[in-house]
Amino acid sequence: MKILFVSSEVVPFAKTGGLADVAGALPKALSALGEEVIVFTPRYKKTDPVKFKLKSINPEISVGTLPGSKVKVYFFEHYDFFGSREELYQVKGCDYPDNLERFTAFCQKVLSFIKEIGWTPDVIHCNDWQTGLIPAHLKTGGSKIASVYSVHNMEYLGLFSKEKLLSTGLGWEEYTPEKMEFWNNISLGKAGLVYADAVCTVSETYAKEIQTPEYGCGLDGLLRERSKDVYGIVNGIDYDIWDPAIDPCIAKHYSADNIEDKLENKLELQKDFNLPMVAGIPLIGIVSRLADQKGFDILAGAIEEIMKLKCQLVLLGTGDPKYHKLFTEMMVKYPEHISVKLGFNAALAQQIYAGSDFFLMPSRYEPCGLGQLISFRYGTIPIVRKTGGLADTVHPGEGFIFEEYSSSALLDSIKRAVAFHKKNGAAWKEQLRRIMELDYSWGSSAKKYIELYRKVKL
Ligand code: ADP
Repeated sequence: MKILFVSSEVVPFAKTGGLADVAGALPKALSALGEEVIVFTPRYKKTDPVKFKLKSINPEISVGTLPGSKVKVYFFEHYDFFGSREELYQVKGCDYPDNLERFTAFCQKVLSFIKEIGWTPDVIHCNDWQTGLIPAHLKTGGSKIASVYSVHNMEYLGLFSKEKLLSTGLGWEEYTPEKMEFWNNISLGKAGLVYADAVCTVSETYAKEIQTPEYGCGLDGLLRERSKDVYGIVNGIDYDIWDPAIDPCIAKHYSADNIEDKLENKLELQKDFNLPMVAGIPLIGIVSRLADQKGFDILAGAIEEIMKLKCQLVLLGTGDPKYHKLFTEMMVKYPEHISVKLGFNAALAQQIYAGSDFFLMPSRYEPCGLGQLISFRYGTIPIVRKTGGLADTVHPGEGFIFEEYSSSALLDSIKRAVAFHKKNGAAWKEQLRRIMELDYSWGSSAKKYIELYRKVKL
C-alpha cells in the first residue's frame, strides 16, 4: 500500500510534543512491515538543511530521510510561512496570526505535490488540525484517495474567524454545524473529523472518552454520530532513540541486566539540578508541557505536603507563565527538594528519564502520553492518573495509579510510591526489571494502522 503521512512536526526535524515522536517513528515501522510510505512536513527555521542533508528538488520542496530508515521525508519550503519562523505555531504563548494561511498553504501543497511527483497514495494519514483541510479537499473535490485523520489532542481544534473561511479554498456551504462551523468560528480540526474516512486517536480509552461531553471539547456529538469510524490505536515509542543502553545523552548506560548502573545517572541528575546528591532519597521527575491539561493545578495543591515527604522533585518544562511562576517560587522556598528548568531540551529530558526513580504524570486528560512509555524503557516507575492512554498502558504492579482528579488522591499515590522506594530491596529491583521488559515499540500498533488503512482504502 502507498501511504502518505502528513504532520506539522516530525522527530528529529522539529518537535513541540508527542505528535512529532509519532510522526518520526510510525512511518519507519510501517516501512519495516513492507509498506510504501513517505512523510510530508513543513521545513521550519530550526530544521538545518545542511545538518540533515536535505536536497532541494525545486524551490518549494526539499527531501531528506528519517534517520535509521529509507523513509523519505518531503519538506514544504516556504520562507515567509515556515522557513523564517522561530517557532512552529506560536511565540510567547501567542499564536501566529496567520496560522490559517500557513497551514492552508501546507495542505494545498501536499495535494499539488503528489500530482507533481506522479505518486498517488492509497491513503493520506493526516494528523491534528494543521492537516484537517486535506480530508475536506479530498472529499469535496471527489478524489479517490482515502484519508485517516488522527487526533493527538482533542482540545486543539484549529479555530479561526469565519471571515477567513474562503481563504481555506472551501466555500460558504461548509459553514454549517454539520461541517466546519464551531460556535461562530470555523474549525480546521472539525473539517478533518467530518471528512476523513476514518478518525483515529492514540489510545483506546481516549477514543471512547472523546465521545463524551467531558472530553469531547464540544465535538462529542459529531464523534458519537461517527462512532463506527472512530478508532483508538495506542502509540509506541521509537526504541532506536529511547534506549538507556545506547542513549548518548546520559551519564552511564544500563539495561535490565545491570540496573545498578542507573544510580550513576541519578547522582548526575541531582548534581545538574543542584540538589543534594543522595542515593537513598526518592527522586521524582517531570518532563512536560506546562499546561492545565497536565495536572499542574492538582500538583500545586499537593506540593507543600509532597515537600514534607523527604523526596526530590525535578521538573523540565515550558508553557503557561502561571506555572513558570509557581515552580520558580517553590524552588526558592524548598531548594533542597525541588529544582526546575524552564525550557525545551531533548538531551536534558533523556537525563531525567534515566536519572529519576519515578516519573509523574497527573494529567487531567491524556490522549496517549509518551512519558510513561519512555519511563518504562528507562526503568523509571510512572505515577499516573488513570485517564486516556495512561489508563491503557500503566497497569497495577507497573506504576502507581490514582483515579480521582484531586490533590489528595495525587498526594496519596506519591506517598505510596515513596514508601515503596524506602523498602528498596528485591521488590524494587524486580519491578524495574519488569517494566523495562514491557514492549511498547511500534511493531504491533503499526500492524493495526495497516489494517485500518486497508479498511478505508477505496
Ligand atoms: P504532549 O504531546 O501532550 O506534549 P506526550 O506525552 O504525548 O505529551 O509527548 C511529550 C513528548 O515531548 C515526550 O517525548 C516528552 O519527553 C517531550 N517533552 C515535553 N516537554 C519537553 C521539554 N520541556 N523538553 C524536552 N522534551 C519535552
